[in-house]
Amino acid sequence: MREQLAIHGGTPVTTVPFPEPWLGPAAIGEEEVEAVAAVVRGRKLFRFLDPEHSKCAELERLFADMTGRRHALAVGGGTAALICGLAGLGIGDGDEVIVPGFTYIASASAVLICGAVPVIAEINDSLTLDPDDMERKITPRTRAVMPVHMRGIPCDMTAIMDVAKRHGLLVIEDCAQACGGSYRGQRLGSFGDVGCFSLQQHKVITAGEGGIVVTDRRDVYERATLRHDSAMRFWNAGDAAVAPFPGENLRMNEMEGALACVQFSRMEGILARTRALRRRIYEGIADVPGVSISPSPDPEGDLGITAVLQLPDYTRATEFGLALKAEGIPAGGTYDKSIADRHVYCYWEYVMNKGSMDRHGRPWTSPLHDLTRTYSTDMCPKTLEILGRTLVISLAQTFEDRHAEWIVQAIRKVAHGLARHSI
Ligand SMILES: *Cc1c(COP(=O)(O)O)cnc(C)c1O
Repeated sequence: MREQLAIHGGTPVTTVPFPEPWLGPAAIGEEEVEAVAAVVRGRKLFRFLDPEHSKCAELERLFADMTGRRHALAVGGGTAALICGLAGLGIGDGDEVIVPGFTYIASASAVLICGAVPVIAEINDSLTLDPDDMERKITPRTRAVMPVHMRGIPCDMTAIMDVAKRHGLLVIEDCAQACGGSYRGQRLGSFGDVGCFSLQQHKVITAGEGGIVVTDRRDVYERATLRHDSAMRFWNAGDAAVAPFPGENLRMNEMEGALACVQFSRMEGILARTRALRRRIYEGIADVPGVSISPSPDPEGDLGITAVLQLPDYTRATEFGLALKAEGIPAGGTYDKSIADRHVYCYWEYVMNKGSMDRHGRPWTSPLHDLTRTYSTDMCPKTLEILGRTLVISLAQTFEDRHAEWIVQAIRKVAHGLARHSI
């Protein structure tokens, strides 16, 4: 069959628009509406008014149970969760935290807000932190590493924990995009000293905004609570072993807590569907020449919310992506040089330029930091090379089987069509 590609004037595989790839938001039903309405009708919107019946506290128990951790703290967002997690670990001025070059800018921002500086490490083909480069980036100032389970893909936690243990580093997992995932049968967020989740609109389950910090360490939990509320000891006597320090207001409210509790009950259903869709797509394209499926460190624990394809180079990936779009498939690049995507380190403007909110240029200029440290847009060439040849298709539970079929058909058609065309 000699099918002409849509990009060359042929008939597209489909002209039916795909559903928006919303996960949690698309699952919202009457239960969410009722749960929020009940809080509003009860007029107790603030979590510490009635601790026994707090929805935020209920949500904390759900996350503690899911991850098997002793403590969970609900906060106002994923960035707030990272800030409280870092503060919980006592990370601040003079400390370095290793972050991957492919993560949302908030991972680096949280480090800076705590007074530490991010050290950017390469990713590997899995799109997550490369444990070998992580080890190369360790200096005497390195206190912690922040593996990020990007797009629902679990990091290689065995290798990362091994490097961290050998060098005495703390580990803070950024699970903002991977709520409900696991690695070799163990939940993401339960490997490091701290795990952090986000409930923002774009994540797996949502309350519009919101975040969760989980940890087994009592002192870390205590410090995280102090950071998240300037008067924490007023609401909760806390652990006398941890002396209070200034906090701010990073609290979650009861409407968010109630909404998130209902969303939590939908999580496994959402993920069962995205995993099935992705399996179907991957099986359908396993034998396609010239296109590889990105190697996930654990395909079973992976959330299945992203189909990740890798081409030999940037030019071919760009061409392939455009051809897929012409076939009606919502595919995108991960490092499209025309879009300043804040998930790619070279577009983290205030990291690249050492931006500061104060007139002394802190934290960059603190004498406790290595003042010779520099940042540049080409400092992680491997990360840019990998992202440049990677295409992603975001999947959602709202996709029907026919959407998966169209994706498979289009990938097969484009792979054969472009191969023939370039001869
Ligand atoms: C969304 C996200 C965050 C920040 O979460 P917010 O709730 O938006 O503050 C942090 N890290 C990663 C990887 C994210 O995707």
